[in-house]
Amino acid sequence: MAHTLDLSVKSTSSPLVNITGLTREGLMQALVESGVVEARKAKMRMQQIWRWVHHYGFTDFDLMTDIAKDQRALLKEKFSLARPEIVERQISNDGTRKYLIRMAPGIEVESVYIPSVGRAGALCVSSQVGCTLNCSFCHTGTQKLVRNLTTAEIVAQVQVARDDLGEWPSPKEDRQLSNIVFMGMGEPLYNLDNVAAAIDIISDGEGIAISRRRITVSTSGVVPELEALGNRTQAMLAISLHATNDPLRDVLVPLNKKYNIAELMAAIRAYPGLSNARRVTFEYVMLKGVNDSPDEARALLHLLKGIPAKINLIPFNPWPGTDYQCSSWSAIEAFATILNKAGYASPIRTPRGRDILAACGQLKSESEKKRASTIRREQREEAASNQDSLPAGESLPFAALAGGMID
Ligand code: SAH
Ligand code: SF4
Repeated sequence: MAHTLDLSVKSTSSPLVNITGLTREGLMQALVESGVVEARKAKMRMQQIWRWVHHYGFTDFDLMTDIAKDQRALLKEKFSLARPEIVERQISNDGTRKYLIRMAPGIEVESVYIPSVGRAGALCVSSQVGCTLNCSFCHTGTQKLVRNLTTAEIVAQVQVARDDLGEWPSPKEDRQLSNIVFMGMGEPLYNLDNVAAAIDIISDGEGIAISRRRITVSTSGVVPELEALGNRTQAMLAISLHATNDPLRDVLVPLNKKYNIAELMAAIRAYPGLSNARRVTFEYVMLKGVNDSPDEARALLHLLKGIPAKINLIPFNPWPGTDYQCSSWSAIEAFATILNKAGYASPIRTPRGRDILAACGQLKSESEKKRASTIRREQREEAASNQDSLPAGESLPFAALAGGMID
């Protein structure tokens, strides 16, 4: 597709095909092509392997007891079940868990598990290493190195979180991980093929089984891909709007220069499957003196007219080097009141994981120049100093998720 950047890479670290990233059809095909499984047995073998990998979370072929030993040995020669390495795991005092995951040498991404969000808890996953879009208030946008994550690398973020939560085999009830949001690093619609395949895998009922309505994809507004996103994934849509007029949105979300607000709103209205039961979430980051006036709240209402929508007000999460500040609590509340009075649920995202810089827009892995440890130390110091300056009882938000926003 002409408007999609091709940043794909083949996995360089291993000649083995990682099963994690294969859809059912892909796995069947790969089994036959590898010469390990005869075509007539491919479907059955795929179903067996699928359950072991995606329902039980196994990483060892030898545990697949319904597959003959010699066949397992052959599988091991061609395929891998390896998980990427967790380089660092931090647990916030509110239970938020942030993982720094090394996908390949120099390729590190973050994902964040937030308890008590959505039905039970949500995992915020990354779709790219870094982001090419440079939204001016976003830390991820300052990260230079960018490549698309592979399907396997996206699914692996869910597996790694499940490993850490001890949530295998995939439970039907009483889950800790009930929702997925593509609100980590990167623009998911610039990596739609892998995002869509990952959603096929994650939502499969005989595997990880997180239903498509509990999977939300957030985009800064890649208009030409919206329809395909809906048709291919049936995922819930979240739009990073952040401004109600083009001159301001051009600055905050520079992609707006390519697809302006009018074009974006038209594409949203046409999003497949939109209804009162499947509303679009509009994300709106609250920036002091920039986009937080009552007039802008009213302009927002005007823009959303007729769209089944929820609005998420995200208190800005500061990061080292940014000039923006978070709006005052009273400005946020005044903004929210205008939206509420017009009948919109507009939860203000509660602060999550802020002590470990796990909030959205704070995610930035170290696949860059500076040593990881140096940056993390600096970030911690900065976060600590910001935290100190907050009024008592008010802490800054976790942006990726909000109670109320995710069903
Ligand atoms: N690239 C996609 C998804 C990842 S960003 C997108 O932009 O939608 C997830 C959300 O966090 C977006 O709404 C984004 O605008 C918001 N965000 C980014 N930086 C932030 C910051 N510093 N504080 C609060 N929210 C931020
Ligand atoms: Fe990229 Fe989203 Fe950050 Fe913008 S807000 S730079 S699109 S990750």
